[in-house]
Amino acid sequence: MTSIIMCGGGVIGLSAAVMLARDGHQVTVLEADSARPPTPAAAWEDWPRQGVAQFRQPHNVFPRFRQVCDAELPGMPGMLADAGCRWVDPLGAPERGGMLPPSLSDHEPRPGDEAFRYVTGRRPAVESVVAAVAAEQPGVVIRRGVRVAGLTGGPHAIPRVPHVAGVRTSDGQELRADLVVDAMGRRPRAPGCWPRWARARRTPRPRPAGSPTTPGTSPGRPSRTWPGRC
Ligand SMILES: Cc1cc2nc3c(=O)[nH]c(=O)nc-3n(C[C@H](O)[C@H](O)[C@H](O)COP(=O)(O)OP(=O)(O)OC[C@H]3O[C@@H](n4cnc5c(N)ncnc54)[C@H](O)[C@@H]3O)c2cc1C
Repeated sequence: MTSIIMCGGGVIGLSAAVMLARDGHQVTVLEADSARPPTPAAAWEDWPRQGVAQFRQPHNVFPRFRQVCDAELPGMPGMLADAGCRWVDPLGAPERGGMLPPSLSDHEPRPGDEAFRYVTGRRPAVESVVAAVAAEQPGVVIRRGVRVAGLTGGPHAIPRVPHVAGVRTSDGQELRADLVVDAMGRRPRAPGCWPRWARARRTPRPRPAGSPTTPGTSPGRPSRTWPGRC
């Protein structure tokens, strides 16, 4: 079983955590905001969410992600609709609630049009539903009020390829994992949060495990940490 740290418990972090847990992995979500999610109906009023600047915006579960939900998180679009979100049918006939302009004469559906349907709602409601699904998922632990401050590195598994071994939190804990996922949104990171090697664009691509040039690791060496704040 792979241990995974998901940095950030927004819509993407929580959804990814559920999918990874359903694949058999143990996932710990570290979310900087401490407030626990209320019900979808109360989320607009009662959920302080400083970590997401666009929290008061609409949130579209766009068609591609909705398709992923259909396959990996079945029931989620229906739960969103139950929470007050709305289906949008961009290729549907206006007389059936769709968005095709009335000025078009051809409103006949085509095979595959349904792929473009999606769900939209207020972000607090959307995220509250996703958080409820994640909270129920065995294999997912959500730790709110824990801020990731930097990565910790371990011995190189592959020469010249940086190896992330875990994270350091703002209160000084070091948490190790087999895989660290950055789902902390698109806010600019404070200088030093991710060490330069983890940001380098020219990092060599890792080779598949087991390839003839993949060396063994040398466990037991002390990990390195880098200062900084996310
Ligand atoms: C105005 C606007 C409208 C948008 N509309 C849509 C839309 O309709 N549909 C859509 O799919 N996307 C939309 N996006 C993008 C979307 O909101 C997210 O940016 C995207 O889905 C990525 O999700 P995320 O969960 O990684 O990031 P976010 O939703 O930004 O969540 C990041 C999470 O990480 C946490 N975090 C941040 N730093 C740390 C840290 N150091 N330690 C621990 N936790 C941390 C934050 O508190 C937050 O919970 C919109 C973005 C903007 C700005």
